[in-house]
Amino acid sequence: MINNNSTDKPYILLTPGPLTTSSGVRSAMLKDWCTWDNEYNSLVQDMRKRVLNVAEAGDEYTMIPMQGSGTFSVEAVLTSVIGENENVLILSNGAYGDRMKTICNTAKISNSIYKIDQTETYNLDYLEELLKKNESITHLAVVHCETTSGILNPIKEIGLIAKKYNKIFIVDAMSSFGGIHFSIPEYQIDFLISSSNKCIQGVPGFGFIIAKKSELLKCEGKARSHSLDIFDQWKVMENGNGKWRFTSPTHVVRAFYQALLELEAEGGVKVRESRYKENQNTLVKGMDALGFKAIIPLEKQSPIITTFYAPKHPEYNFETFYSKLKEHGFVIYPGKLTKEESFRIGNIGEVYFEDIKTLISSVEKSMFWK
Ligand SMILES: *Cc1c(COP(=O)(O)O)cnc(C)c1O
Repeated sequence: MINNNSTDKPYILLTPGPLTTSSGVRSAMLKDWCTWDNEYNSLVQDMRKRVLNVAEAGDEYTMIPMQGSGTFSVEAVLTSVIGENENVLILSNGAYGDRMKTICNTAKISNSIYKIDQTETYNLDYLEELLKKNESITHLAVVHCETTSGILNPIKEIGLIAKKYNKIFIVDAMSSFGGIHFSIPEYQIDFLISSSNKCIQGVPGFGFIIAKKSELLKCEGKARSHSLDIFDQWKVMENGNGKWRFTSPTHVVRAFYQALLELEAEGGVKVRESRYKENQNTLVKGMDALGFKAIIPLEKQSPIITTFYAPKHPEYNFETFYSKLKEHGFVIYPGKLTKEESFRIGNIGEVYFEDIKTLISSVEKSMFWK
């Protein structure tokens, strides 16, 4: 038994995941499960159905969980669905868009990129031109909430254009799925990726893909990786009635299942989204009153995570600010913007309006440079 000491002091994570989970989710992990056991595999099947409900997706879709962090699932999709003579146009306004390009380059998947500034969203007329001119493009991939900055990309409009030109539409909705309401069929998404430790509010350990079955069925034999082959993963799971192809992260799955029940008990995605929005509004107003400006304009800002300009004061440094806030029980996130010094504050997870209020007064007490 490890003694409680200062390093075990609890804090609220205001980060884009792993995030603060409920005690219900954490206690769901206290039992060990057998991966061959019917009870566990039925739970997996039920989990898959419930995720499809969150996505408002019917029988034409399926949910495929994949071991690893979220990036493994992004890589699983890109390497499983884009074949030898196909190529993908990647849209990027941040680190996660860029990461899709790195994945494709490493796997030698032919790709091109439409890259813009981290504080902007795409010019849809220009996107349409690109697709019109380049008939060799077969797939279009975009990040929904670009967690680098907190900007929200217009995936509904992008999906309309993708389908007008008959492209397979891939969306990294890692940090938005379950926290921002949308319907996968309505948005015409063929492959959506998210993970256990973001807005569903589970713990880290696996990612998942929501795939349009008719497109998934075309992926047999296409994969460039064995362990990340989403077609094979799906087929084994379907045939085994919920049994994973390789060792499944049992405790994480059980916690995720509990998190899904708690999402339903909260009132579903719309209610969760309004809680996140209230958190975000409270955050931006409170920070503004203390002199911190958000980088992303309000109309493009997601309710997930907010980037603030770092104070220009010569004595300011992120590490000290971070440590002071941690002493007050809050953990924030460093900035990831290329141009400006910044920091980020997330508001997803088991975090409420009152917590953000307390955060604001803690920020005020932590402004050591004043
Ligand atoms: C969190 C996140 C990922 C995955 O990151 P991992 O560290 O691999 O879990 C991918 N895309 C976006 C937009 C994210 O927010």
